[in-house]
Amino acid sequence: MQIVFHEKYYNSDYAMDPAADQGRIESIMDIISNNKLYEIITPEPATEEDILRAHTKRHLDSIKRDSLLYELASLAAGGAILAAEEAYKGIPTFAVIRPPGHHASADSCWGFCYFNNISISLLKLYAESKIDSAFVLDFDLHTGDGNINILSNREDGFSVKILNPRSGERVAYLNEVREYMENLNDIDVFVASAGFDEGIEDWGHKLYPEDYTRLGELMKDHSERICEGRRYALLEGGYNHSVLGKNVDAFCQGFQ
Ligand SMILES: [Zn+2]
Repeated sequence: MQIVFHEKYYNSDYAMDPAADQGRIESIMDIISNNKLYEIITPEPATEEDILRAHTKRHLDSIKRDSLLYELASLAAGGAILAAEEAYKGIPTFAVIRPPGHHASADSCWGFCYFNNISISLLKLYAESKIDSAFVLDFDLHTGDGNINILSNREDGFSVKILNPRSGERVAYLNEVREYMENLNDIDVFVASAGFDEGIEDWGHKLYPEDYTRLGELMKDHSERICEGRRYALLEGGYNHSVLGKNVDAFCQGFQ
């Protein structure tokens, strides 16, 4: 499988928040870059046209007022687009991108997010008539309100189902995801808002590394059942640098 990554994602100067912390991306790449199973590919920034499929001109202009933030946020969105394009070709892809995106709505953002990376990537595939539907598994600790606001109940015919599992205990949580996926049909691509802040050693204190492997396996098994295995995942949260890389690697082992 492939890993989308760019050296500029190491830059921690664009914001003062836990997602922008120095050492966070290093904690992932220190593990991922040593595994020969993963091929690393490098993205280009998203264009304004790409960003404006998900966001208002007003929001785009507000981010552009900070040139470093705009450079990195558009590069994260570009990483999402590259992952989506590879997934569409049938190559499972995980994007180690920053800043995250699932709390960014069309005209606003919060929660360490600026552009909605998932929406920008899916809406590009939809605009190119490559897909008509998608499934989003958001296993971040926090509900991806931006994903829901942009992708749910669309009037343009693009159909997106989103699951933010909320079961309070790990076995029930995995069962909730499995049961939801077993009832899915007619989906063109699977994508994960892959936050790792539900980790047993992270803010949510719930999921073990093997649980992330299981989530990856479920994404693989059901995308292979429904849409020829087209699947990708984008990094969202995850804040304990001492375990973040281990959890991302655990997910990828099931996902690949
Ligand atoms: Zn989160």
